[in-house]
Amino acid sequence: MPSLNYASPTTVNEAVSLLAGAPGLAKVLSGGTDLLVQLRSGRVRPELIVDTKRLPGIIGIREENGGFVIGAATPGAMLEAHEGLKRAYPGVVEAMDLIGSQQIQGRASLAGNLCNASPAADSVPAMIAAGAVAVVAGPDGRREVPVEQIPTGPGRTSLARGELVLEFRLPPRPARASDAYLRFIPRTEMDIAVVGCGVSVALNAQGVCTQARVSLGAVAPVPLLVPAAAEALVGSRLDDAALARLDAAAQAACRPITDKRGTIEYRTKVAGVLARRAAAIAFQRAQGR
Ligand SMILES: Cc1cc2nc3c(=O)[nH]c(=O)nc-3n(C[C@H](O)[C@H](O)[C@H](O)COP(=O)(O)OP(=O)(O)OC[C@H]3O[C@@H](n4cnc5c(N)ncnc54)[C@H](O)[C@@H]3O)c2cc1C
Repeated sequence: MPSLNYASPTTVNEAVSLLAGAPGLAKVLSGGTDLLVQLRSGRVRPELIVDTKRLPGIIGIREENGGFVIGAATPGAMLEAHEGLKRAYPGVVEAMDLIGSQQIQGRASLAGNLCNASPAADSVPAMIAAGAVAVVAGPDGRREVPVEQIPTGPGRTSLARGELVLEFRLPPRPARASDAYLRFIPRTEMDIAVVGCGVSVALNAQGVCTQARVSLGAVAPVPLLVPAAAEALVGSRLDDAALARLDAAAQAACRPITDKRGTIEYRTKVAGVLARRAAAIAFQRAQGR
């Protein structure tokens, strides 16, 4: 078995060259709440672990040009404690807050949740609905990638060798815009989503939806952006007809599997119900802003 090396670089260039130059598998470490479990169980056997936590800006939240920049390794507890972020993006914060327990919240990050690439990752549909963009650094410099383009399948991402996520950018929030995330789990907490749904909307002064994004988790190999579900909301005040269109569009997008948490039929039905409920919460929040 190869020996396991650990590095804790203090610059992004150093982190990238370590990741790109490792002869075998190199893994990025943020909070470690997925990675350490996988190491202990032998599911992953890297030769090198590159801990990001000493990189400048990798932990922290700042407001920039009316939007928010969240460092990739920022733990969930810091999102929950940030009043400005909670006001503008309550859906993103509540999705992250659902992850694990208080202990997990002290470590778990958005980047780890995204790059672990579980189809059921809770923060990912919320980030997709919010229009979050990941800033990725690698041997060829930096690039901005919409969050929905990072996961490519269970446990797989579009990140190339030597690349890591540095931060997430959330766009400025206009007035009367908000979001919501709901998940369904078989017990009250500490479980994996049977279905997750993020909805983000902007309304005009008359309460009519002018922009929407809808994302579903745990119903396909990757979290989905569902444009047809968003179209069902635009132009409506969330009347019964819009809700029925939203439900149908959410169900139509599902490509789930049957497992111990639910059958294909069950997951598909729940996706429609969660989309309706998350949309209702997002509309209500948007009316109050
Ligand atoms: C008890 C328990 C309960 C949990 N409950 C939930 C839950 O309810 N919902 C849920 O979605 N998840 C849950 N998780 C999973 C986990 O906590 C989350 O996925 C968490 O967000 C991972 O973040 P992390 O910073 O700990 O990631 P890490 O463990 O540090 O990393 C995870 C993966 O992402 C990669 N990675 C990390 N950072 C970067 C980066 N900057 N760039 C590129 N790749 C990177 C790592 O190499 C690794 O492959 C739970 C885990 C435990 C142990």
